[in-house]
Amino acid sequence: MPTKSQNPETIALHGGNYRADPATTAVAVPIYQTTSYQFNSTEHAGNLFALKELGNIYTRIMNPTQAVLEERVAALEGGVAALGVASGQAASLFAVQNICHAGDNFVCSTDIYGGSWNLFQNTMSTMGIECRFVDPSDPENFRRATDAKTRCYYGETLPNPKLAVFPIAEVAKIGRELGVPLIMDNTACPALCQPLKHGAAIVIHSTTKYIGGHGNSIGGIIVDGGNFDWEKHADRFPMLNQPDPSYHGAVWTQAVKPLGPIAYIIKARVTLLRDVGAAMSPFNAFMFIQGLETVVLRMRQHCSNAIAVANYLAKHPKVGKVIYPSVMTGEAKRRADTYLKDGYGGLVGFELKGGRDAGRKFIDKLQMLYHVANIGDARSLAIHPATTTHSQLSAEEQLKTGVTPGYVRLSIGIEHPDDIIADIDQALAAA
Ligand code: PLP
Repeated sequence: MPTKSQNPETIALHGGNYRADPATTAVAVPIYQTTSYQFNSTEHAGNLFALKELGNIYTRIMNPTQAVLEERVAALEGGVAALGVASGQAASLFAVQNICHAGDNFVCSTDIYGGSWNLFQNTMSTMGIECRFVDPSDPENFRRATDAKTRCYYGETLPNPKLAVFPIAEVAKIGRELGVPLIMDNTACPALCQPLKHGAAIVIHSTTKYIGGHGNSIGGIIVDGGNFDWEKHADRFPMLNQPDPSYHGAVWTQAVKPLGPIAYIIKARVTLLRDVGAAMSPFNAFMFIQGLETVVLRMRQHCSNAIAVANYLAKHPKVGKVIYPSVMTGEAKRRADTYLKDGYGGLVGFELKGGRDAGRKFIDKLQMLYHVANIGDARSLAIHPATTTHSQLSAEEQLKTGVTPGYVRLSIGIEHPDDIIADIDQALAAA
């Protein structure tokens, strides 16, 4: 029996339809390491391909281990269905590409992960899809950039390095007036924020980060909120409302109507994932299920440790500025308090007064914190963006993205806070 609980702690363990393995009664979700599935009859096979019945066909398109993860993450986000894919990057690409093709555009926050920026700005422009970047501090910028060819808005709940929470409801509201769905990358905030509840239509995660939580697997997921009326805006979404030649003329908003408001996510699965093949491996799906079971607890610890670190850094004489939602003021703080619950996340930024050299020295002196280009691991991590992740940008571009020469990004883990602070303290002594 699927749980009726609305509590994230319970959903993370019991969300979705899985109770025990139907074949063996195993409680832990088995790893269905198979490529394909035996059809009962030619009629059964025909029904599956025609989407008259939903069921397993081939692991590039679906897999029972992955299905458990998809149902649970969909439940955690308050959505109707989800699609697991090979990486967070694949999730971002598919989320947009599912409704946008050559000649179309979408409007995106400037405050997003650098990899998403590259994908949207460079790779997607080679596909003829234009990304219009706007400053999210004024939500009206999204309206100003919208025209008849705008297919979606895109933002990140808690983008680093600025860590200024995105105005989800404000932008979603503009989008709903104009018939434009909001896609939110909620990677940094599982269980802390449910963007769908604030009006977003689609949520994506890099499951590589907090959902996996242990730094061992790359994956991504797209959640369909089932709350956007694609038919009402048929002119804006021909890909969902006109016959799809890649699937014997299916009109997605009609074809899967009896199965619920899942036109968007079904289309992504049976066309994009089918064709591009960026599938999540069953083993990785299993790893993400293990991570998901404790994500709510871990997020709590990430948040309480991060606030302790932010408070410590704020008093340190070598630190010029701490970037963390709890220490922000004005509109930025109001947004953080509106959209994040039970904490302000595990990412902390700070600027060293000694600039670039101090940043490098600090990183080199760390003993427990890992120096890696990742976030959301149970272990604490650190990086100096000016000399690594943002080193390809000019000094001016770095400043625009919020990276000053002495900026250090921490992804605070779940170790004892005293040990995290002790390591930072001894590294700061050398910086
Ligand atoms: N979104 C955010 C916010 C990220 O931080 C990342 C990776 O760092 C991604 C998406 C891309 O995820 P992946 O590395 O799983 O492709």
